[in-house]
Amino acid sequence: MTPMMEQYWEIKNQYKDYIVFYRLGDFYEMFFDDAIIASRELELTLTGRDCGEAERAPMCGVPFHSYEGYVGKLIEKNYKVAICEQVEDPALAKGLVRREVIRMITPGTLLESSLLSEQSNNYLCAICMSEFSYGVCFADASTGEVHATSFSGENADARLRAEIGTYSPREVIVNVARTNMGEVGKFLADRPDLALGDNQYARFEYASARERVMAQFGEQVKDEYLEDRAMTSAVGALLSYIEEAEKGDISYIREWNVYSDGQYMEMDVNTRRNLELTSSMRTKDEKGSLYWVLNKAETAAGKRMLRKWVEKPLLSVAAIERRQSAVEELCNSFMLRAELGEELSHVLDLERLVTRVVYGSANAKDLRAIASTISILPELRSLLENCKSDELTSICGSLDMLGDVYSLISESIVDEPPFLLREGGIIKEGYNSDVDYLRSVMADGKGWIEKVMLEEREKTGIKTLKIGYNKVFGYYIEVTRSLLDQVPDRYIRKQTLANCERYITQELKDMEATILGAEDKVCTLEYELFQKVRAEIADKSDRIRSVAALLSKVDVYLSLATVASRNKYVCPEVDMGSVITVKDGRHPVVEQFVKDTYFVPNDVMLDTDRNRLMLITGPNMAGKSTYMRQVALIVIMAQIGSFVPAEDARIGICDKVFTRVGASDDLASGQSTFMLEMNEVSYILKNATRKSLIIYDEVGRGTSTFDGMSIARAIVEYTNSRKIGAKTLFATHYHELTVMEEEFDGIVNYNIAA
Ligand code: ADP
Ligand code: MG
Repeated sequence: MTPMMEQYWEIKNQYKDYIVFYRLGDFYEMFFDDAIIASRELELTLTGRDCGEAERAPMCGVPFHSYEGYVGKLIEKNYKVAICEQVEDPALAKGLVRREVIRMITPGTLLESSLLSEQSNNYLCAICMSEFSYGVCFADASTGEVHATSFSGENADARLRAEIGTYSPREVIVNVARTNMGEVGKFLADRPDLALGDNQYARFEYASARERVMAQFGEQVKDEYLEDRAMTSAVGALLSYIEEAEKGDISYIREWNVYSDGQYMEMDVNTRRNLELTSSMRTKDEKGSLYWVLNKAETAAGKRMLRKWVEKPLLSVAAIERRQSAVEELCNSFMLRAELGEELSHVLDLERLVTRVVYGSANAKDLRAIASTISILPELRSLLENCKSDELTSICGSLDMLGDVYSLISESIVDEPPFLLREGGIIKEGYNSDVDYLRSVMADGKGWIEKVMLEEREKTGIKTLKIGYNKVFGYYIEVTRSLLDQVPDRYIRKQTLANCERYITQELKDMEATILGAEDKVCTLEYELFQKVRAEIADKSDRIRSVAALLSKVDVYLSLATVASRNKYVCPEVDMGSVITVKDGRHPVVEQFVKDTYFVPNDVMLDTDRNRLMLITGPNMAGKSTYMRQVALIVIMAQIGSFVPAEDARIGICDKVFTRVGASDDLASGQSTFMLEMNEVSYILKNATRKSLIIYDEVGRGTSTFDGMSIARAIVEYTNSRKIGAKTLFATHYHELTVMEEEFDGIVNYNIAA
């Protein structure tokens, strides 16, 4: 093999799971199997390269300056990429240039803004499965957040799937082989938008994971966290994976958010999908989802926060009321909304900018973006100062103006810096006297050359004498052929062209050294200064990050208030009671689509006493399914802290929401629809509590009439019994079931007329 191919294989063997982008001059080249895959996925021409063996190595390549787009396409298809750079200057290298992998890019560890979606988080997930419990954590490397939890017991599998459904990670690493993961393994394999790395046992080793976690989070780590071995192992594994991929400073990952049962409403994956919380069922698009209706956020980080809120409705009345107080205040003032919206529209993605600052990949434009976001803070604070609600007042009180960060950036970095960092033009005049001096030398240099030219014309009498510059000779004096006899002896001939000769002089060379030296020096110095400024800002990253979080919150409140006001929502009364009453409720999404006709509002009355189970019948297309989802969505909206589409609403907090909707198109997953339906119902019956809300839409359809009816009746009886007693909506086409109203307490018949 050729020496280059030997080097290639040495590297490739360490990155077997990755597509290696091997830097060769102005290209990243891929070889062998990597080349075959990449040429297919990226539609590149497959060529060959002599590798020293009989057959040529399959090869394809992409230009180095536009590699991100290509990497993006591979990542989208769940491939992982290792970027292998030349790590010494090819001009100075003796023999083969040294190369190293400087970064691995995987779907779950992206930092590049061009590869990330602005509106959603990009989560990497680590799952530690042990005999006794599961530890799971999710991290977004681009924003530095980590969420972790653990669970055990017979429902652990289902809980784990529900968590994965909540966060929708892009990549998962697991400590065991997929074949040993049981149901969870199948669930992961069924998600085409998920890259899976299994059998990463070493990363999950408890002792080293524990150390890693303590080193990363310091005093944030409580003993009780560490005692949860599965959770700690998962977090440690995740950090190790990110660190290995980024090969840089990951100290920007600061927050370890541990959550547990009882903080958020529980919903399984099917429920989320059926209720179309963040994407519509039919098109998988955001359009048509609850998030789509609620999202009027101005900033990318605000949109991400809102999505998280939609995914995780709260259970605490106090926390919900706090959110409501902010939404209400903004809802009542059109002016305040307009003014805040105007300020927020200038806010850039601080969260991700700060990550790049700490990681060390932020450029001068990024720093300027941080400064321009900071510049709106005083105005924003003065708008919030007049607010009365607890929530907005407290945000206003904790809003750091970051004046020091602003002055540092605005004094050091020019207003419109270039994209590149090593070619100068970054540092502002007056920030550093050495930079100013070197620049004056460069500027004067141009004048000096002018002066020399005029002097030489004077001395020699050659009126057409010119001074030019090129890369090979530097500055030179040019004299046309017809005037050569006037050239003095001190000129040293350098080059002969068709109609002129080029010369240098000692004086010219000395001057050139000073000017060009200054240019090189200033570029180096500016880069050093820039790095210093960036490091100084990195030291303040915690403060910037907390401002980012507050801005996002304000943005989310503004969004919820705008939507509430436009769509005429009301503030629901929330309490720990068990009653749900809604007057003239509407379906938040459907009403958007029937705007020009009319959405027929409906009431709801549910409790855990005489109105536990609504048995709903009515003709096809009457609106049964819509009505039931609308009830669930109103409850969810209320627990998010949003206002709700109704005239009046009182919501007793629900701990979990379940739906089993329609025997529709589950066939794709390979199970019979009937089996799937029964599995889901069984899951609901095992997990629902008195405080839950259950929606059954036409259960028992996938079998013969009598079997179906028997199953439906059994489900109604069991759900309504003391064993569960949850608030339930049950739509059915079996009219025979309506007799149950008389036979059981708590069951009430409703019929939808259209
Ligand atoms: P069912 O489940 O009873 O067959 P659906 O809930 O699927 O009926 O609703 C049928 C159609 O009627 C849907 O297109 C829906 O958008 C519309 N619809 C449902 N409820 C209402 C309503 N309250 N007002 C206006 N249109 C509605
Ligand atoms: Mg229906």
